[in-house]
Amino acid sequence: MSHSADHGAGRFAPSPSGDLHLGNLRTAVLAWLFARSTQRRFLVRVEDLDRVRPGAEQAQLTDLAALGLDWDGEVVHQSRRLRLYDEAITRLDRAGLTYECYCTRREIQQATSAPHAPAGAYPGTCRSLTEAERTAKRDSGRPPAIRLRAGDAYYTIHDVLHGDFTGIVDDLVLRRGDGTPAYNLAVVVDDADQGIDQVVRGDDLLSSAPRQGYLASLLGLPIPRYAHVPLALNDEGKRLAKRDGAVTLADRIALGETPADVLTTIAVSLDLADPDEPVTLPLLLDRWDPRRLPRDPWVYRLL
Ligand code: GLU
Repeated sequence: MSHSADHGAGRFAPSPSGDLHLGNLRTAVLAWLFARSTQRRFLVRVEDLDRVRPGAEQAQLTDLAALGLDWDGEVVHQSRRLRLYDEAITRLDRAGLTYECYCTRREIQQATSAPHAPAGAYPGTCRSLTEAERTAKRDSGRPPAIRLRAGDAYYTIHDVLHGDFTGIVDDLVLRRGDGTPAYNLAVVVDDADQGIDQVVRGDDLLSSAPRQGYLASLLGLPIPRYAHVPLALNDEGKRLAKRDGAVTLADRIALGETPADVLTTIAVSLDLADPDEPVTLPLLLDRWDPRRLPRDPWVYRLL
């Protein structure tokens, strides 16, 4: 099988904030299947701009390898790519597409709970401050965040599972007040820089995709193909979480299962194996047909 650069790349981009649970591992398997079945390279990027827990990255990579996932090239770390994010923000700034925002989280919450505010969208409080107002805010000593001047645009991305998906693009944060580049910016810059043209991730991020597509278009970057895949839920229908019990690979191994057993669990959830059938990733790749991917969340019943 050739994974030449011509075929593009897919990726898995975990945040090293803790152990991966079965839902995350299932998303990683899906990202690998989508990439490998289309002769794409498969890249792993550690999104370590915030929420880093010591040791989590190593544990995550070890878990992916234990399931049999392989990836191309070195693992990339966002924390070592700050210059790229700065350059992108500078370009947007030069194009007049940014502004300083002094709002606190609390002020934004209060403004967005107003009856006519679009849900979750930044209300634009700092968008058109006068020079005098801005000076007064600056003098308060609070370091500003940098926001995109999007002005509540709408943007449509295409998702292979959800079809055309339109979402509002508010004046999203590009760099936080503490200087950290924001997730939406870093993802867009990285995907393009790494030649990633296929983004497979949990469908909790579907609503972020129009923001990211819009940002990519402003930066003149290609928009990837998206596949937002169903999440894993617990038996109460809530998003699977570590507090739900034995949901990490380490937890399952402590209960006497092997990584191969866990791969079987994931494969069964994807309709790619019979219960208790031993499988390998190459076998799953052979059976893989994205059109048959279950569209409903995977309800994981803890045994
Ligand atoms: N790092 C994000 C997460 O772990 C995923 C970002 C992405 O796939 O675009 O939730």
